[in-house]
Amino acid sequence: MKKYCNCGGALTETMVPRYGVPRLGIPVVLIDTVKLFKCSQCGKERHELPDLCMLLSAAATSRAINPRQLCGTEIRFIRKTLGLRAIEFAEILNATFETVSRWENDKLTNMSTDTEKLIRLIALNRLGKDDVDLRNNIDRLIDMDIKPPKGKPVPVKQEIRLPQVPTKGKKSSPKNQLSGAAHRGS
Ligand SMILES: [Zn+2]
Repeated sequence: MKKYCNCGGALTETMVPRYGVPRLGIPVVLIDTVKLFKCSQCGKERHELPDLCMLLSAAATSRAINPRQLCGTEIRFIRKTLGLRAIEFAEILNATFETVSRWENDKLTNMSTDTEKLIRLIALNRLGKDDVDLRNNIDRLIDMDIKPPKGKPVPVKQEIRLPQVPTKGKKSSPKNQLSGAAHRGS
């Protein structure tokens, strides 16, 4: 289906090989996932990103299976992606609110391997529902040898390839057309 710009110009569609997602919380590069639409007339460009929920979940689970020790920013990112408040996270991990806060601010770096694996396991279990490799990843996690960072604890860049999202408006059901007409008529 041909797409058009607000100016009336036709849009050309290209796949972006590598796209760094801004302001996600941790650095994420999407590989062959983001589409770029460019107007042939006014030159305006627009990137089409996957659904934010899907993106956050993919970033969190991708990080969960990387053996590098989690840094504070990543712990916070995973917690927020899980939709948990710090106090709820603390309860699950049998820690105090203050401890979680220190972990997330890199002020307490002696988190036990068991606790770190539990965080990763919760992330995989709750966010990896669409992951066909979930079973394998959980097995891999159990045997994982978590490696401390070489220098300062900084988030690891996640390179993720996501399945293509169907272009919006592709499945135009009669119901949608009807409600559209009703809306226009009101
Ligand atoms: Zn245009």
